[in-house]
Amino acid sequence: MKFETKAIRLGHSPDPQHRAVVPPVHQGTTFEFTAVGENTGYEYSRTSNPTRVLLEECLAGLEGGEFGVAFGSGMAATDAVLSMLRPGDEMVSARNLYGGTLRLFESIYTPRGVRFVYIDGGDPDAWRAAVTPHTKLLWLETPTNPLLQVFDIAAIAEVAREAAVPLVVDNTFASPYIQQPLALGADIVLHSTSKYINGHNDVIGGAVITSDPQVHEAVRFFQNTAGAVPGPWDCYLTLRGIKTLALRMRQHNANALAVARFLEGHGMVREVFYPGLERHPGHELARRQMDGYGGMVTFLLEGGLEQVNAFVEALGVFHFAESLGGAESLVCHPATMSHAALSEEERQRAGITDSMIRLSVGLENAEDLVEDLERALGAARRSLEAARAGC
Ligand SMILES: *Cc1c(COP(=O)(O)O)cnc(C)c1O
Repeated sequence: MKFETKAIRLGHSPDPQHRAVVPPVHQGTTFEFTAVGENTGYEYSRTSNPTRVLLEECLAGLEGGEFGVAFGSGMAATDAVLSMLRPGDEMVSARNLYGGTLRLFESIYTPRGVRFVYIDGGDPDAWRAAVTPHTKLLWLETPTNPLLQVFDIAAIAEVAREAAVPLVVDNTFASPYIQQPLALGADIVLHSTSKYINGHNDVIGGAVITSDPQVHEAVRFFQNTAGAVPGPWDCYLTLRGIKTLALRMRQHNANALAVARFLEGHGMVREVFYPGLERHPGHELARRQMDGYGGMVTFLLEGGLEQVNAFVEALGVFHFAESLGGAESLVCHPATMSHAALSEEERQRAGITDSMIRLSVGLENAEDLVEDLERALGAARRSLEAARAGC
């Protein structure tokens, strides 16, 4: 089956009782035993729930993995993977990460004795050099948040194979429609399904997908033991969202490219980060590794915080809000929003300045989006001119 068909058929088998084409939501927490020690495979919904199993099968199939494990958030899924680490273990990670992921590494796992080694991530040899006998995981996001750097998954997976250490790829920014890390040699795929996979800005969720039985067992054990499971309705809504994932991603790709090209030529924009632009340093790699360049566009505005404020206040279609990957276009100020958990020094090292703006380009008409940005950039320009005239 091709991707679009899988997205509609996997996890959508008719219910065996009434043959309803769309399976019911199993809200029940507990299931009858048929005899002592015998049941239908379900006993308690933390351990396993039929609606959740459908979502897990669908996500595994879309990423080309054997096993999918769903969680109540992307952070819970991240925690499940990290639960495999013990005091004294090391993990090598690319530095440019979702702020909440870095906070989990530093505030929860570092005090427990796990050592995190951060590298820039672009050079496979730097990964090779950072691995020690204590290294137990390699970790990266690509494209990265918010700078949209692109890392060579196949080359870094080769380093992981040499070191006999699993490579984790957070595939949230790309979605499985655009990028398939397991096929490129990664061992574990992580998702915040709150983003493109659900796609409607209305469910928080996460997932871990792998074909490694040992990893799967550890993650499944953690899911049942720590219990950060998604509710059945959230699983149902996510499955519903997945049916249009391919259609949505194609439109996100087209709209984001139109927005990036517009920004590239605007006088109030100092720099645009989008892997679909020929001048992006990761463009060639992205062309090979991805099928489309995604819906995220980051840029640097001329001026400072005051101009950012004028810009966001003038927007009428984009919402000034965190998150990404939904139908609604969103604008985020990484320094004070998604990456506020980082210290000033960490932000500087990650290249996140006060004039950086991140767009999650949604599914509205691209002309409306460009018009909205044009108006807001005009407001930022007037603010800059007024500031200059003032001094
Ligand atoms: C949002 C996000 C997460 C965290 O997921 P939640 O569902 O918000 O817990 C992790 N990684 C990336 C890349 C994200 O964008």
